[in-house]
Amino acid sequence: MEHEVIDFADARVRRGDHAVRGTAMGGMIRAFAVSSRETVQTARERHHTSSLVTAALGRLMMAAQMMGLMSKNDDELLTLSVRGSGPIGGLTVTANNHGQVKGFAHHPNAWLPVRADGHLDVRKGIGSGELSAVFDQPGVMPYSSEVPLVSGEIAEDVAYYFAASDQVPSAVGLGVLVGADTNVRNAGGFIVQLMPDCPDEFAEQLEQNLKGVDSVTDLLEAGMSPTDILKYILRDMEYEELDAVPVEFYCGCDEPRAKRAVAALGESVIRDMISKSETAEVICHFCGQRHYVAPDVLVELLEE
Ligand SMILES: [Zn+2]
Repeated sequence: MEHEVIDFADARVRRGDHAVRGTAMGGMIRAFAVSSRETVQTARERHHTSSLVTAALGRLMMAAQMMGLMSKNDDELLTLSVRGSGPIGGLTVTANNHGQVKGFAHHPNAWLPVRADGHLDVRKGIGSGELSAVFDQPGVMPYSSEVPLVSGEIAEDVAYYFAASDQVPSAVGLGVLVGADTNVRNAGGFIVQLMPDCPDEFAEQLEQNLKGVDSVTDLLEAGMSPTDILKYILRDMEYEELDAVPVEFYCGCDEPRAKRAVAALGESVIRDMISKSETAEVICHFCGQRHYVAPDVLVELLEE
């Protein structure tokens, strides 16, 4: 009698926000997909974003989650920044290779009327500008590159980044569906890349397969998981899944970091706060968390 082995740890990962990594056509194609409703909802709650900003920030955070997973270095951080002429102004997100991401928008309340087709107008919200990526690792010179925005919808901009900066032809899909109650209904994305020496016929087949993919949120609304999405995009292309990893919104700011931020204000500012018995308040840009440094701790800081 044969049994199917159930991997409970894997099953648990796949119930929550998670990303999957896979390959197709014998490694000529590599693929990533993510389901990140909780991640994007957390960002919405932390930053009280408008639905327009929730969608824009969510898309960039999911791109960073998948790009972070491309790194082989455990202590490498990837920061993606978008600067645009639209009302959102800019977005900054940081991700590591454990699926953890944090991020913020310059103008979290930015708002525009929805488009005629009912979609949030992320393109106009971002406007024209640049997308930059910075790879940072302790002890290594940070590596960065910047490309102009070609669309403002984020997914096409990330695809252009891969093509222009890494010479890797890529298909990128990112979608956030925000409900009328401003909560995130679903969010997810994919990145499919052609490795060097990938035969033209594989690229052509992928292009054909992608013609049926209008929006990631439609696939998610149809109940598809990240695995289902990649199987669908890479149908008839020998898709092989490598692993599934949990992803989340995670900041990591804490009391010691808040103290260092206050210390950076300089002695005279700290002395002034002490003389007025003021508690220093440090608000983390990335997660909105407020940290307080009491006057007695300020005195300790001065002594240090
Ligand atoms: Zn924080």
